[in-house]
Amino acid sequence: MQQFDLIAIGAGSGGLAVAERAAQLGKRVAVIESGRSGGTCVNNGCVPKKVMWYAANLAQAIDDANGFGVPAQRQATDWQKLVAGREQYIRNINDYWDGYITRSGITHIQGKARFIDRHTLEVGAAHYQAEHIVIATGGQPTIPNVTGAELGISSDGFFALTEQPRNVAIVGGGYIAVELAGLLQALGSQVSLFVRGQQLLSHFDTMLGDVLAEEMVKQGITLHTDVAIEQLQKRADDLAIHTAADEQLNGFDQIIWAIGRHPNTAQLNLAKAGVTTDNNGFIPVDDYQNSNVEGIYAIGDVCGRAPLTPVAITAGRKLAERLFSENSTAKVDYSNIPSVVFSHPPIGSVGLSEAQARSQYGEQVVVYQSQFTPMRYALSEHSASTAMRLICTGPEERVVGIHIIGDGADEMLQGFAVALKMGATKADLDNTIAIHPSSAEELVTMKAQNRVYNESKQ
Ligand code: FAD
Ligand code: NDP
Repeated sequence: MQQFDLIAIGAGSGGLAVAERAAQLGKRVAVIESGRSGGTCVNNGCVPKKVMWYAANLAQAIDDANGFGVPAQRQATDWQKLVAGREQYIRNINDYWDGYITRSGITHIQGKARFIDRHTLEVGAAHYQAEHIVIATGGQPTIPNVTGAELGISSDGFFALTEQPRNVAIVGGGYIAVELAGLLQALGSQVSLFVRGQQLLSHFDTMLGDVLAEEMVKQGITLHTDVAIEQLQKRADDLAIHTAADEQLNGFDQIIWAIGRHPNTAQLNLAKAGVTTDNNGFIPVDDYQNSNVEGIYAIGDVCGRAPLTPVAITAGRKLAERLFSENSTAKVDYSNIPSVVFSHPPIGSVGLSEAQARSQYGEQVVVYQSQFTPMRYALSEHSASTAMRLICTGPEERVVGIHIIGDGADEMLQGFAVALKMGATKADLDNTIAIHPSSAEELVTMKAQNRVYNESKQ
């Protein structure tokens, strides 16, 4: 039986990161992967999504070009070319990782891992042992338990589409739903979005979901809120959605479920190792990624906390450093994680929403807000708003939340997230000379008149 210092189950963002750092620290390391290296982010997540997002941005730019005196005419999207290019790009990343794993001296084991006991894993007929086992198995899309649910596809199914959907329904109001809705509409599909509540992106500052909803409607997306879906039905020429309010909506050629993801833990045989999960199958861990069993750790999406690629990578690197270097207290700082939603327009958000800040700091909270049409649309027929919020607290007006929707928000946020994490105050932002003309300059030029008062304070 092959012995290792560390085995990572899953060669996704987290598993590759922990394996890489452990190998750099001189340890005998293996990764076990049942699919393609790179995991969700590379194969079914961030990477293919961002390629599609760029395509959608280019399509929008062509629509706007004529106004700037640049003659351009949109044709139908060449979906096959787009998908073929995207898949080749992904294969190059798979190849990079496969080569990197080998060059780093990491043993690459292909197959599905199951626990035999707390130090032993089975892959097919082979057994592998390690003192430290890291569960980095990620998650998969959730399909609800409604009649005809199998007629719909998930984000995985979306990336497998060989033809562009003509008329598509997307169910959900979170990251994936709004990202797919924006890019599909921009690429020429007709999109209807079905949200179970009132609010898009309900975990973010409400301003972001409100402005995004307005922009989506302007783009021609049909937004259905407060909808409970009871059934999907296949008809002669299309798919239909039946709602709890007895409505029937027809005419769809694809329906996409984007209602969250659940962890890949059911097939790991965790009971053999004594590892417990919560009611939803996620593996609870402490601040140091320890599961309830000594020597078994969990990182990334399988833990259910901040399921984002850079969080999984950081957790992997910190864990390897804690186990194998002198940095024995290394751990992830889960506070103020910046995040971008690649919607149209994109969203950047870090820190507390207004509601979270008010429940934490009460009357001390001051909100600055600005909304404008960026110069990007100076000469174009269509335009999209940019809106920004600074959530500040205390007499020194420390910035505890920054929320931006608008062109460039995706690239704007990272530097401002550093400032927020360092404890910047509104005065620190004001004391920074603006970059002109830009949208970002608004974040350092908001004045007293940009203050938003809640009703109780007016
Ligand atoms: P994964 O990357 O999912 O890796 C887990 C790996 O484990 C998989 O390769 C799987 O095949 C393997 N595996 C599972 N079970 C076993 C087993 N028993 N044996 C062997 N191997 C196994 N995050 C961002 O930060 N930015 C984005 O823009 C972004 N966009 C996204 C878009 C979409 C559509 C989706 C679905 C996700 C997106 N994410 C994004 C989230 C990001 O992809 C995840 O947070 C990240 O991939 C989690 O990494 P992980 O290592 O925990 O799991
Ligand atoms: P999210 O948690 O972002 O959103 C799930 C959405 O589905 C919410 O609007 C939720 O509503 C709704 N929902 C949940 N259950 C049901 C149901 N039974 N019927 C109808 N609607 C339902 O999950 P996603 O799947 O969009 O994304 C998964 C994770 O992947 C994200 O949390 C994010 O961490 C990561 N990701 C990151 C991206 C990025 O960084 N840009 C892009 C894509 C994914 P409600 O609001 O009422 O709870």
